[in-house]
Amino acid sequence: MSGEQAAQDSGTGDGEALAVWDVVVVGAGPAGASAAHAAAVTGRRVLLLEKAELPRYKTCGGGIIGPSRDALPPGFELPLRDRVHAVTFSLNGRLTRTKRSRQMLFGLINRPEFDAGLVDAARAAGAEVRTGVTVSRVEQHGPGVPDRRTVAVVVTSNGPEGKREEIVYARAVVGADGSASRIGAHVGVKLNQVDLGLESEIPVPASVAEDWAGRVHIDWGPLPGSYGWVFPKGDSLTVGVISARGDGGATKRYLDDFVARLGLAGFEPSVSSGHLTRCRADDSPLSRGRVLVCGDAAGLLEPWTREGISYALRSGRLAGEWAVRIAESHDAVDARRQALNYAFAVKAGLGVEMGVGRRMLTLFEKRPGLLHAVLTSFPPAWRAFAGITRGKSSLADLVRTHPIARRALEAVDRP
Ligand SMILES: Cc1cc2nc3c(=O)[nH]c(=O)nc-3n(C[C@H](O)[C@H](O)[C@H](O)COP(=O)(O)OP(=O)(O)OC[C@H]3O[C@@H](n4cnc5c(N)ncnc54)[C@H](O)[C@@H]3O)c2cc1C
Repeated sequence: MSGEQAAQDSGTGDGEALAVWDVVVVGAGPAGASAAHAAAVTGRRVLLLEKAELPRYKTCGGGIIGPSRDALPPGFELPLRDRVHAVTFSLNGRLTRTKRSRQMLFGLINRPEFDAGLVDAARAAGAEVRTGVTVSRVEQHGPGVPDRRTVAVVVTSNGPEGKREEIVYARAVVGADGSASRIGAHVGVKLNQVDLGLESEIPVPASVAEDWAGRVHIDWGPLPGSYGWVFPKGDSLTVGVISARGDGGATKRYLDDFVARLGLAGFEPSVSSGHLTRCRADDSPLSRGRVLVCGDAAGLLEPWTREGISYALRSGRLAGEWAVRIAESHDAVDARRQALNYAFAVKAGLGVEMGVGRRMLTLFEKRPGLLHAVLTSFPPAWRAFAGITRGKSSLADLVRTHPIARRALEAVDRP
């Protein structure tokens, strides 16, 4: 269909339903599925576009902390592979100490089934889902765009006759296409932290799996700001490390050493992969015209732990809700007002948490040994860690309510 036809169709009853979606969401990870769900439950016409076939693999520990659990669609059953009740901490392989909790600290999932479940929830809420289609760009002005209320979304797919290009039209677009986001580039997302995560999925025999059940390992690493983890998932372990991008060789050596130290080098990984995580700069935009970005595409991620699922779910839900309001806007001024409201909601919640996380990372880069000692030997610090993972409090609450934590972070700001 040409742009002109789409413009003619809009406002003509059935024709409009076919030609112009209220909301098109790009990317079906937790951010996109959450956005599509939030927009679809309002009864609007929502299209969710995903380049992979689902379920698809995503390099990720699959740690689900309280805020992630609390941001799931109502009734969503978490496909938990394990429930964490103990954490073994080490400082680059030394000073190993295990802390235990009677209450569950956080849950562990495998991303392919978790993400596919979220997409099912969006579909059940009324969203249409198309997989195996890549969004190459969006256009908000120019000859391909029928009017000022419409965004053209250019989609490529591989059909029996080869590559096919198609344009779908939307009143609002949500970019949730992850850390290499094309929609983020369109919006002009600016970053101030990029990290490289490397991970292996390691199938292990039952005797090894038993030893890990209910317990994760966190190792504060040898590179500034780096750490490693073992997350057990029943018959396999997710083992990974993350550190600042720049020296991939050193990050790989850290992973190899970590795996060897744990006595896991003899088991063949079923998957070994890497992925970048990106954190937005404070003044980075979250929208452009009728296009919003959320999750990794917006650089929304906790800078210290690089926890991103709760950020994706929470920002995705907000983006879906505000995209509906943008879709209803009849002029650019109102669309801009709604986009600013979205940005305000993100910054007031996740933005504040990111600010604290950034300072935590600076403290951790300077004094990993101090952090290790405090967490393993000072019971209030362990209780605070447990409270954050359970979702009873956040890093920002901790700094607000604990004078020692506040003073430690204030020291980071001093030259
Ligand atoms: C090594 C590592 C470990 C991590 N561990 C954890 C953890 O334990 N807990 C946690 O909370 N967070 C963790 N994170 C962060 C978390 O994985 C991300 O923050 C989260 O996946 C972000 O979700 P998202 O929906 O924004 O993006 P993604 O999950 O990346 O989803 C984006 C989707 O968009 C699709 N897409 C991309 N481009 C296009 C396109 N052009 N057209 C159509 N579709 C497109 C992709 O195929 C993908 O499905 C980890 C990250 C890394 C790298």
